[in-house]
Amino acid sequence: NSGLTIADLMVEYTGGQLALGRVNLTIPEYGIYTIIGPSGCGKSTLLRAIAGLLQDYHGEILYNGKSIHNQETLIGLVPQSYGLLPWKTVYSNIQIAMNISHPERRNNQDQELQIRHWLELMGIADLASRYPISLSGGQQQRVAIARAFAISPTIMLLDEPFSALDAMTRETLQQLFVDNWQANPTTTLFVTHDVEEAILLGEKIIVMTSDKEGLIELIDNPVFHM
Ligand code: ADP
Ligand code: ADP
Repeated sequence: NSGLTIADLMVEYTGGQLALGRVNLTIPEYGIYTIIGPSGCGKSTLLRAIAGLLQDYHGEILYNGKSIHNQETLIGLVPQSYGLLPWKTVYSNIQIAMNISHPERRNNQDQELQIRHWLELMGIADLASRYPISLSGGQQQRVAIARAFAISPTIMLLDEPFSALDAMTRETLQQLFVDNWQANPTTTLFVTHDVEEAILLGEKIIVMTSDKEGLIELIDNPVFHM
């Protein structure tokens, strides 16, 4: 039972709307799985439950056999809409996340080196003092990815991070993500609605359907090469 295990997960939103019915899934440690499925099938709800953003769900979410929300499991989340603090610089956005996740390194020199390292790797070292509003979508997403990797999470969750970007920017960021992930593998769940992206990035592909029963099909990706 190592890795991320989801057992009989069921989520209802207020009003009794069933958002997710009986999901069972295991992602091994350092596994990278992609999820595809139609709009409304519950992909974001699944990520929100794992991220601890839903108070109310039935079932269990475990990491290495223990409840994920009762231990120090660090979760890195990359949303479609970047999720940067608009009144903070690029540098501060990453710094704040690191201060929260690794308070022992709060604003010390090692932390600054780490931030510089990730800005460099993501090709945004020259944007450190800029505010998110002055950046393109692709640049903001680079910051969001740098921030997610910088906290060295146990689990990384990505919710259609590239779908709002133009095709060329998307390909560039997919490659950057692959390079960074290979250098720093972490248990990863990547939601996309793009089949090509699902095949490029997932060692297994989870296909969700909208009928909310049975729900998940797991496909081995024969061309996975990461
Ligand atoms: P996906 O990410 O696959 O598009 P979601 O997880 O966003 O799907 O939504 C799953 C279902 O839950 C949908 O039927 C949606 O309408 C519903 N839903 C999502 N968020 C809420 C909410 N905050 N309140 C009520 N219903 C919601
Ligand atoms: P903001 O400009 O983000 O609103 P703050 O004044 O809250 O920022 O900055 C918080 C800290 O972040 C600063 O004291 C500084 O240590 C650090 N910081 C912000 N931008 C940079 C940068 N470009 N290079 C180095 N450190 C920075």
